[in-house]
Amino acid sequence: MSSVAALPLFRAQAFVQGEWIGADDGATFPVISPSTGERLASVPDLGRRETRRAIEAAASVWPAWRDRPAKDRAAVLHAWCALITAHREELAQLMTHESGKVITESQGEVTYGAAFVQWFAEEATRAYGDVIPSPSRDRRLVVLRQAIGVVAAITPWNFPLAMITRKVAPALAAGCPVVIKPAAETPLTALALAELAHRAGFPSGVFNVITTSQASEVGRELCEHPLVRKLSFTGSTAVGRTLMSQCAPMLTRLSLELGGNAPFLVFDDADVDAAVRGAIAAKYRHAGQTCVCVNRLLVHDAVYDRFVDTFTAAVAGLRLGDVRDPATQVGPLVSERAVAKVEAHVADALTHGARLALGGGRLDGLAYRPTVLTEATPAMRIAQEEVFGPVAAVFRFGNEAEAIAMANDTPFGLAAYLYSRDVGRCWRVAEALEYGMVGVNEGLISTEVAPFGGIKASGMGREGSKYGLDAYLELKYLCFGGIGSA
Ligand code: NAP
Repeated sequence: MSSVAALPLFRAQAFVQGEWIGADDGATFPVISPSTGERLASVPDLGRRETRRAIEAAASVWPAWRDRPAKDRAAVLHAWCALITAHREELAQLMTHESGKVITESQGEVTYGAAFVQWFAEEATRAYGDVIPSPSRDRRLVVLRQAIGVVAAITPWNFPLAMITRKVAPALAAGCPVVIKPAAETPLTALALAELAHRAGFPSGVFNVITTSQASEVGRELCEHPLVRKLSFTGSTAVGRTLMSQCAPMLTRLSLELGGNAPFLVFDDADVDAAVRGAIAAKYRHAGQTCVCVNRLLVHDAVYDRFVDTFTAAVAGLRLGDVRDPATQVGPLVSERAVAKVEAHVADALTHGARLALGGGRLDGLAYRPTVLTEATPAMRIAQEEVFGPVAAVFRFGNEAEAIAMANDTPFGLAAYLYSRDVGRCWRVAEALEYGMVGVNEGLISTEVAPFGGIKASGMGREGSKYGLDAYLELKYLCFGGIGSA
């Protein structure tokens, strides 16, 4: 028995139309722990056929779910939130085992993920329409906001729980059934969420989870099936582009949360110690494997050496080790491919003149040493692409205009950070940064109450906040004629 099989929320079957199912042909694929290499489970390898059945099941229950009073839908979401919160420890353990995320961060992710469920349970009851002042005496104009229909959600391994709740909580709140395809690396957290959704009282067919190792086949079905009205995707920009082209023939609506290349600007008037704390939090979370992780530290010449010394000392103090130990701060990378990418980025930077101030090189298994590279330049690969690992590259700038130009010199536009104690500069620079989100003297910016999302090649649409429900609602305009007069 694997180390997670005894957990009461452990499920190793897909969840479709309220049933735990296997693949039609009995195929399975393994779920492997990145931290120990242990085979945690074998889960069904579903294909297009089973995906089509899940979509059709969801479509068949859509009218009933949509037509339930918002308050009823909210009550089921509140029940789901309570169950997620009550099972925080168990969900965190599952997540830590299958994703390699350190246990304290997994616990934090459960809390963060549950917050979206609570938020959208509340928002469900506030999907107000509008009455438009009529241009004529004889007409009344009204706008309704109605559930869009069946929603497909494709999610990544780096947030196995929160990327699901951030999509499906607003969809379910709006009155849409969901078909979820979690990452092949992390299906167990998704299946545990399905078990809790079932206990919370979502009707059969409203909440479906497709486990698969055939992402492109299943993805194609989710894009092309005419009953899927909306696809919400979080993952890489390359896959986002593929999905967008596949959605074009049916004009399936899309939300895309894609990759980033986050700059972190430290000006000469910054509180350098606060900037170091912010940079550590924004760089080394999940071993650097989040889309809002800092990729480029841009530091003013005048504080460069002081920043590098303090930052390097702080990075040297980060604790590596067993991801189940609450004292561990940095865990392994998710796969051999991820380690190879980090190694290639570091080698490229060193070839192009970067200096290794700390780290470099892998440790046991998939762990990579927290690393600091100084004297980084825009010519390096690390300046162009997400490293997605525990490697910080520190660049120099000489003035505000140069810092802004360097920060914006990327096709991506998800998160950016800046540190300065000059309020005028904070406003100017925040406004000039071409990013969907900017942390000003703050390294941790994600919260359910604020709109999360990017511009340019980082995607389209926003998740969370009062705007998050819009992605799952269509506007309908009603024009009442022949009103007459009394
Ligand atoms: P990925 O390769 O794009 O995978 C993400 C999801 O897409 C997985 O479920 C994957 O399934 C699936 N997928 C892969 N190829 C597909 C295809 N052809 N059709 C349909 N689905 C397909 O991304 P990743 O490398 O796992 O995740 C890291 C990326 O996500 C980074 O770029 C990161 O910045 C981004 N990210 C963005 C946000 C945000 O909110 N903007 C949040 C987190 C992560 P398999 O697992 O089976 O391959």
